Amino acid sequence: MTIAVHGYATQSPTSELAPFTFERREPRPQDVVIDILFCGICHSDIHSARNEWGGTQYPFTPGHEIVGRVAAVGKDVSTYKAGDLVGVGCMVDSCRHCASCEDGLEQYCENGFTGTYGGEDKIGGTPHKTTFGGYSDKITVDERFVLRIPDNLDPAAAAPLLCAGITTYSPLRHWKVGPGQKVGVIGLGGLGHMGVKLAHAMGAHVVMITTSPSKGEDARKLGADEVLLSTDAAAMKAAQNSFDFLLNTIPVGHDVDPYMALLKRDAAMVVVGAVEPLTNVNGIPFIFRRRSMAGSLIGGVPETQEMLDFCGEHNITCDIETIAIKDVNEAYDRTVKGDVKYRFVIDMASLES
Ligand code: NAP
Ligand code: ZN
Ligand code: ZN
Repeated sequence: MTIAVHGYATQSPTSELAPFTFERREPRPQDVVIDILFCGICHSDIHSARNEWGGTQYPFTPGHEIVGRVAAVGKDVSTYKAGDLVGVGCMVDSCRHCASCEDGLEQYCENGFTGTYGGEDKIGGTPHKTTFGGYSDKITVDERFVLRIPDNLDPAAAAPLLCAGITTYSPLRHWKVGPGQKVGVIGLGGLGHMGVKLAHAMGAHVVMITTSPSKGEDARKLGADEVLLSTDAAAMKAAQNSFDFLLNTIPVGHDVDPYMALLKRDAAMVVVGAVEPLTNVNGIPFIFRRRSMAGSLIGGVPETQEMLDFCGEHNITCDIETIAIKDVNEAYDRTVKGDVKYRFVIDMASLES
């Protein structure tokens, strides 16, 4: 027996997402079955659907910013009950016993975590070998990978917290961003707008570093104290050696030199967007000011819950445009053009219509 699920999938790198029916496993004792209400559209969904990172298995159902209500729980589930508002992020499984898993850093599982979509399904229970994501009406997930959504948050606007929120929260916390620091967030998209809100809530002086002059006003509304146009060479030069931390969300390979030059001595730039080669990584900006460049991948399950609770306390959600699932292909094209304020979220009720 399996659970029949309706969703959307793409069949090749160049085809559009279209209705698709597939199966989820029946709940094991430790599993939670969730009726999905909303799912955010992350730029990673687009990279994967279009096979821009290689290795995508088709049919492919994206979606790892999932919010829904618990429909049923297995007999050993103690944390959740039917009706609870819950979320699922980028991971649905990991080995549980490596050093990273034991530290609650499942995203760095030394045996490889299972992605919510496109991951090798090691649990099984269906004919499918890979996992299918949240552009669908139901999901079965081990309770360890289920998050609680604070009741005061709007469920649709909370959905992108499950990826955009944690991906920005985790490095801000790891590099101890806080009051008295000047923090730059590079790229005002889904991740960047959350980076601005979270760094502001953590008490930092936030500078939005953008290629788009038109986004300046919005950046200030989101919590930026200043806006720096990265295409303005004179402004970039004047801002050199002034930043305590940079969070770089640019989704493609780029020249890092102009950004590294913005850092103070001992400061770090953390790259979360580009997986392609980064160019102009020269020794001088690193050596002469003991600067560093690092990367960061989403966040572990305990820290994701911590981030959701932080957002609950500070009343932080994402700025979203809610769409019907039939409009998902247009939303992809608009996201790539940067034409979204600042995250599309699919209302899964539209699957039925
Ligand atoms: P997004 O909404 O498309 O935003 C990216 C922003 O970057 C754009 O709005 C634009 O902002 C800026 N930008 C785009 N192209 C640029 C270029 N060529 N040069 C300089 N700036 C550019 O994307 P997102 O959903 O925030 O995701 C950002 C990246 O993070 C994606 O590659 C995604 O796959 C990745 N990601 C990583 C993790 C992780 O765990 N590390 C998790 C989730 C997503 P401006 O107009 O303000 O310049
Ligand atoms: Zn994502
Ligand atoms: Zn592990």
